[in-house]
Amino acid sequence: MHLKQFEKISLGFFPTPLVELSRLSHFLGGPKIFMKRDDLTGLALGGNKTRKLEYILADALKQGCDTIITAGAAQSNHCRQTAAAAAKLNLQCHLLLGGDPPLKAQGNLLLDQLFACHIHWTGTNRKGEDIPRLFAQLEAAGKNPYIVPYGGSNELGAMSFIDAVAELEQQNKGSEFSHVIFASSSGGTHAGLVLGKHIYNKTFELAGINIDKETNAALPFEQQIIQLVNSTAKLIKLDYTFSKDQLILNSDYIGKGYGIVGSQEKEAIALTAMYEGILLDPVYTARAMSGLIHLIRSGKIAKSDKVLFWHTGGAPSLFAYADDLDFSQSETAI
Ligand SMILES: *Cc1c(COP(=O)(O)O)cnc(C)c1O
Repeated sequence: MHLKQFEKISLGFFPTPLVELSRLSHFLGGPKIFMKRDDLTGLALGGNKTRKLEYILADALKQGCDTIITAGAAQSNHCRQTAAAAAKLNLQCHLLLGGDPPLKAQGNLLLDQLFACHIHWTGTNRKGEDIPRLFAQLEAAGKNPYIVPYGGSNELGAMSFIDAVAELEQQNKGSEFSHVIFASSSGGTHAGLVLGKHIYNKTFELAGINIDKETNAALPFEQQIIQLVNSTAKLIKLDYTFSKDQLILNSDYIGKGYGIVGSQEKEAIALTAMYEGILLDPVYTARAMSGLIHLIRSGKIAKSDKVLFWHTGGAPSLFAYADDLDFSQSETAI
């Protein structure tokens, strides 16, 4: 394996903490639950994209690019972290955001504006379909643009999660984890964890919780993850082929679809906040945590297990979901 040949720049603070959620575990009457706090990567309120950007933007700088283009939803954590990193690196940043501009910017969008990036609203083209056109326009204007893919999910992005498994390995002094659970959406985190698990000979069951319904994707999400695992393995000269029967992508918790908060997500946010003082985000981590809670309650994860929940960040979007997350009725009288 040749990971060292790929340069990385420092954008966050690593290792991120590994903590035990003993009160949540006790409440659920469940297994030991640990959390890898990638919500604390430190780049502009943190998240899993910080890891990916350390490899991806190193490549952009190496290629002498002066402008970054990426795409996402209005509340994209990926776009927020990319805009912050671009500000730090003196790169012009263009964000293509799906939908139409809201009347008032909140959450991640509010933060995007602070990083002085250029925001382009792309209507129904939510996954970067308009990138080639903007790329051509910027080139014609004399810029040297660099495309950061949707969610930072290419081989370089995935590689950062091989390092993340090494980091976890250093931190976990106790017994092996039986399960690693996380929110999966553009596949880079998933692909990197698959490779890290293989390279470091881990035995945990690696289960991504799918948070997004398929929308007109050229390739089904499972296939995208498998391809990314295999193309990343090839790039780092690792002799490994990953196939569909090895992939666990749990699509039982998608509810009404991407970014639509239901009672399960609300419960996951409330329990994690009130038992651990930790914030989940409504779109990704609350959905993944609701999956974990259900797997524990239904006995699919046993009391004797030892689970790692990989917190991938996202809490800035809580504020944009204030209307869906009104917990004021649950305030109790003294
Ligand atoms: C992007 C993101 C994910 C999903 O990671 P992928 O590598 O895109 O699958 C999960 N959680 C949060 C908070 C994210 O921003």
